[in-house]
Amino acid sequence: MRIYDDIQLDYCDVLLRPKRSTLASRSEVDVTRNYTFKWCPRTLNATGIVAANMATTGTFEIAREMQKQHLMSALHKHYSAEELIQFLKDNAKEFGSNDLLFVSSGVSDADFEKLTRVMDEKLCANICVDVANGYSPYLINYIRKVHKAWPQALIMAGNVVTGDMCEDLILNGADIVKVGIGPGSVCTTRKLTGVGRPQFSTVIECADAAHGVGGMICADGGCTVPGDVCKSFCAGADFVMLGGMLAGHAESGGEMHTKAFQTGEVNMIDDKTCAMKIEEKQYKIFYGMSSQYAQDKHYGGMKKYRASEGKVVELPFRGPIEPTLLALLGGMRSCMTYIGAKRLKDMPKCATFYRVNRQLNTIFGNEQ
Ligand code: 5GP
Repeated sequence: MRIYDDIQLDYCDVLLRPKRSTLASRSEVDVTRNYTFKWCPRTLNATGIVAANMATTGTFEIAREMQKQHLMSALHKHYSAEELIQFLKDNAKEFGSNDLLFVSSGVSDADFEKLTRVMDEKLCANICVDVANGYSPYLINYIRKVHKAWPQALIMAGNVVTGDMCEDLILNGADIVKVGIGPGSVCTTRKLTGVGRPQFSTVIECADAAHGVGGMICADGGCTVPGDVCKSFCAGADFVMLGGMLAGHAESGGEMHTKAFQTGEVNMIDDKTCAMKIEEKQYKIFYGMSSQYAQDKHYGGMKKYRASEGKVVELPFRGPIEPTLLALLGGMRSCMTYIGAKRLKDMPKCATFYRVNRQLNTIFGNEQ
């Protein structure tokens, strides 16, 4: 039996060491990067944060808000080809191009057919090929097929967590490998299967392997606060994909509902009468794409041989997404000034980490 003894770390196990820096202010840093790729001949200027291609976060509405901040979006695959084409036409008029968007695909023949219909319109040539288990031979074969069909396309594919598999995917046509098995906020894969790897260590190993063969990685899942996104870029991620951090907003998918709560407080009506105070709160559903809920909603029920690998949560409604995105970018700018990174690309070069036992003081709760 082989056991890897090296300690495997998550974002919560590390903190960045501040460094002397010549940067006087946050406004001096550049959170964008000019990306050039191994296979795709196009270049891209973006802040490499990508909305996850989940039905709740890969929405047209979130994509619009992300692009306003120069951020990216992987549109979910439950839109029809017609809906995608119409959106891409409108979006190209609004933003000048669809360069910051990915069209998502599974690896079945039906997925390829749908992808072909969208690609034939020549509106967007960024493709996100997504399977839960990137170690399946179906993924490599599908990437080869997509790369052959559209050699100019930017191909992101995953998910895997080891350097060897990143290299394989890149050498077979992927420009970006999506890494992460089990770190997601609504993922139960680790519980159900015992498979997974702490995300910070995954990012370090996969970035090193991918960069070695001229490719890139997208760290997918496990970011809970802007600081985690900063740590991910610093660990070597070229792109960082977010689900939970973008969920529960006005632009997110998922049903909304209102609940009434009887609080301990009372409203005084006059000297002698009082009434219980009732508070109403709004919630939005967020669910894993392998959850029973998602299987029922998008695939007409769960197949007998499958088990749910995702959960359903009710998030307190967070209002419009813009303040969340601005806080995220603000956090990144501040991190860059702390570590002396003038450009997004410089973050790993400037980063040194402390391994920690505790990173937050939670005496007054963990909400803000
Ligand atoms: P988050 O940012 O919420 O921590 O993670 C988002 C990522 O979780 C997604 O991009 C996707 O890779 C992963 N994910 C989404 N739904 C599920 C699911 O039902 N099961 C598993 N195992 N992973 C999921």
